[in-house]
Amino acid sequence: TQFKVQSIQKCIHRVISLLDSESTRLGHYIRFEPREEPILMMMDQDKMLQLLLNLVKNAFEAMPEQGQVHIKLLPIDQKVIIEITDTGKGIPESELEKIFIPFYTTKDSGTGLGLSICHKIVQDHEGTIEVESVKDEGTKFTLTLPTVSPKT
Ligand code: ADP
Ligand code: MG
Repeated sequence: TQFKVQSIQKCIHRVISLLDSESTRLGHYIRFEPREEPILMMMDQDKMLQLLLNLVKNAFEAMPEQGQVHIKLLPIDQKVIIEITDTGKGIPESELEKIFIPFYTTKDSGTGLGLSICHKIVQDHEGTIEVESVKDEGTKFTLTLPTVSPKT
């Protein structure tokens, strides 16, 4: 693994462009309002991309049509909170504790590996991942990750 100082916005823009044709095909929209100042993190760029792609792809798969995924950045202290909220079918409360377990899937052709990989990537970046969900309304994944201050 290769850790480098990178902006989180750049990573999110890359995710959005990688999913561009899929978004169009499914009628889904990724809403993201980047802030002016780059938020810098010490990250393994490929892993961070994989983490965000997994979360947005899960969101896409949970929304029937014309869904919206909102990616929100909230910098606080030496951290950034990244919220990824979808308008999908939600996760029943009884299943919430199982979703990070490897091979747990509710999909016919799912691997059930996405979120366990996400969990590992977040841990490798000394962060946390949490989930909140309301059945039939949507799901919010909250990542909290350490940031670095720009060199002056
Ligand atoms: P997979 O996508 O292969 O099923 P994941 O580990 O990515 O495996 O996700 C595990 C399970 O968690 C999914 O099968 C689904 O039931 C649930 N899940 C994950 N993300 C969402 C989401 N955004 N909305 C609803 N359910 C979700
Ligand atoms: Mg998945």
